[in-house]
Amino acid sequence: MSVKTPFYYYDLTLLENTLEAMSSAINNPNFKVHYAIKANAEDRILQTIKNHGLGADCVSGNEIKKAIALGFNPENIVFAGIGKSDEELDIAISNGIHSINCESIEELVVINEIAEKHDAIANIAFRINPNVDAQTHHKITTGLNENKFGIPITELDAAVDEILKHKHLALKGVHFHIGSQILNLNPFANLCQQANNVIANLKARGIALEHINVGGGLGINYNNPDSQLIPNFEEYFKVFEKFLNLDEGQTVHFELGRSIVGQCGSLISKVLYVKKGANSKFAIIDAGMTDLIRPALYNAYHKVENLSQTGDELEPYHVVGPICESSDTFGKTELPTTTRGDYMMIRSAGAYGQVLSSNYNLRERAATIYSDEQSLASCIGSEKKAQTLEVV
Ligand SMILES: *Cc1c(COP(=O)(O)O)cnc(C)c1O
Repeated sequence: MSVKTPFYYYDLTLLENTLEAMSSAINNPNFKVHYAIKANAEDRILQTIKNHGLGADCVSGNEIKKAIALGFNPENIVFAGIGKSDEELDIAISNGIHSINCESIEELVVINEIAEKHDAIANIAFRINPNVDAQTHHKITTGLNENKFGIPITELDAAVDEILKHKHLALKGVHFHIGSQILNLNPFANLCQQANNVIANLKARGIALEHINVGGGLGINYNNPDSQLIPNFEEYFKVFEKFLNLDEGQTVHFELGRSIVGQCGSLISKVLYVKKGANSKFAIIDAGMTDLIRPALYNAYHKVENLSQTGDELEPYHVVGPICESSDTFGKTELPTTTRGDYMMIRSAGAYGQVLSSNYNLRERAATIYSDEQSLASCIGSEKKAQTLEVV
């Protein structure tokens, strides 16, 4: 039976294959990945990732609760964020999570107070802003001096002075996260250099770190997803293998989000109208920025495919959503002659898609369908498409 559009469709086989490829790209037993829940927090996505043995990287108290509810071991949960509320710190400390990634000297005082209330010692990693340019979109750049994240590298000494004053805090690690959708690996090499400086500085002050957390950020291929359904994890991990100076027993933590879930999700929508505009032909679809906001928010490109037409002759279309905002567009593209009722597939929507959806205009949220529950062909009422879709 066909499914009401729009809906998110997740290919769990691709997710499994991606996780498999990621694990086999790791040659160092001290490398450990925490999945960044904020990229996609659908239950079965999280369960699949947990069953694969990854930890969880959380940026809110509710993400910590959700991770624990779905069976992640608190010892494999880390928590970052520049504005953690007292309630969220309470959740982190009372559950004894692996590490609170502290983003300011001011926060240390508050974490210490809350830990004292619980008669606990909170494990802290300093999130350092390394001032490394991730060479990505400015709205997803997080590791420059002008960004709000982390403790400025120039304040490292002051942060150490502060943490040593508090009995309920233990400095166990350092954390960095320079940005997202990073495809050029040089920024990660630069990050390693900065991390090495930080590690050496702390060592000089007599602090032996247990873990170095280098964050996430590895990008995916939005332009041509089929040419690279699985990101190049090998090259990515190699950079850290090569450039990071580690002491015996130190572990390296990664917080990958997009690269794990990005390609396994698609947004499926139906064409409502094909309208002749003054300058272009609009394909007006029933999915909009309330379902997938990345194009409106970051000018992001997502490949749009027409699942119902197979013609080789392509025409230019401007694919837009129904929301009363001019930014509600999926961009201009070439499609076979498109008509009302055609199914459209917006690719590479597994990360920062469904999690960022809203019910603006009082719209309903898109449903979630997993590949092992129903084939995409059956979702769109077209068994004929089954073979073509399996390759996707
Ligand atoms: C968003 C975020 C990540 C994940 O980033 P990706 O680009 O999806 O890999 C990792 N760590 C922190 C602290 C984050 O905020």
